[in-house]
Amino acid sequence: MQTWPSVPLPDIPGHGSRPRIFDDGNQSIGELPSHGDRAALYSCGITPYDATHIGHAFTYLAGDTLTRVWRDAGLAVSTAMNSTDIDDPLLERAARDGVDWRELADSQHELFREDMSALNILPPDEWVAVTDRIEPAAAAVQSLLENGSAYRLEDDVYFDVRAAERLGERSQTDRAAMLEQSAERGGDPDREGKRDPLDPLLWRGKRDGEPSWDTVLGEGRPGWHIECTVIARDTLGLPFTATLGGVDLKFPHQEMQAQHAHALGQNFSDARLCVGEVAYDGAKMSKSLGNLVKVSELRRQGADPLAIRLALLSHHWRDSWEWMPDTLDEATQRLDRWREWASTVNPEDTYTDGDTLLDWLRLTLADDLNTPAAVQAVDQAVAGHRPDALAIDAIDALLGIRLT
Ligand SMILES: [Zn+2]
Repeated sequence: MQTWPSVPLPDIPGHGSRPRIFDDGNQSIGELPSHGDRAALYSCGITPYDATHIGHAFTYLAGDTLTRVWRDAGLAVSTAMNSTDIDDPLLERAARDGVDWRELADSQHELFREDMSALNILPPDEWVAVTDRIEPAAAAVQSLLENGSAYRLEDDVYFDVRAAERLGERSQTDRAAMLEQSAERGGDPDREGKRDPLDPLLWRGKRDGEPSWDTVLGEGRPGWHIECTVIARDTLGLPFTATLGGVDLKFPHQEMQAQHAHALGQNFSDARLCVGEVAYDGAKMSKSLGNLVKVSELRRQGADPLAIRLALLSHHWRDSWEWMPDTLDEATQRLDRWREWASTVNPEDTYTDGDTLLDWLRLTLADDLNTPAAVQAVDQAVAGHRPDALAIDAIDALLGIRLT
């Protein structure tokens, strides 16, 4: 699919160090495994309805920050993202609203592009709709059937979790929690005839009134996890550096997409990054509760998108936090202070405060993408001397906030 426009980053001198990041898979902070001078990130994308709430924006901002820091460290970065543009919740929403599911997806993709662009989120190199990858997904499911990792149940195909490697271990989820989360997050543990209640759906055979595609498996459509396995494999190659998603994707989604790859004979990603949740009105922001703060609505109400970005940067990517009534006001005031400071820049200035701020930003961001500390470093600079052009460019390149 067409992404949103990419804005070139300013050149800043030298390089930061390779970041140390918390890998949810081994529960520790460290430098991620090296692929020479390359790094690749796969972000689980939206299901295109109710786009784009602040929780989505917080997740993709974490990927954006990592990409900026990797690039600054001199790495060649590849990024990819999917869109789950065929799935039960999308069809249910389209039916509820009396619109064609494709039209709903198209309009939500457009809204997502506008929101991401306004927030100055770097676009992925490839943004791939599941409906554009039905054949490869069906072929992967066919391979799993052939190697005994999957089985048919009526017209559907399930992954046999006995083919999994240390199921739940890397997501630190025990069986009781897996059963509970599977039921909550798109699974069907109670379906009769499955070999194990945890077996996830790989392929959904054609149902009356539902869209389907004619493939090597017969008519139907792919399940949620295999789509990401296949899209990440075909865009980034396996294994790649890191998978990124909201913490609610930890199980079953992140677990199963990796298990499917393993059963196909390849390791998936070296690391799993789980981004914290954003709450509103005392509960996690979610489509089912309807307590969504949407980027497009804030923009319509006159919010400066960079103030929204700054509000999000003020929280650590792994923390869960609550969007409060004054969150945006505080960020807007901070952005105003930064802009006023930036307006005093003298491009002729050669003193070295810019170097100092650049060093601080590199140091804080290389430490598990500590954006709150980076924001504080800018606050301190703002309270000090007049800026030079390097300071302004460093804030732009590393935090994505263009002040002039
Ligand atoms: Zn995914």
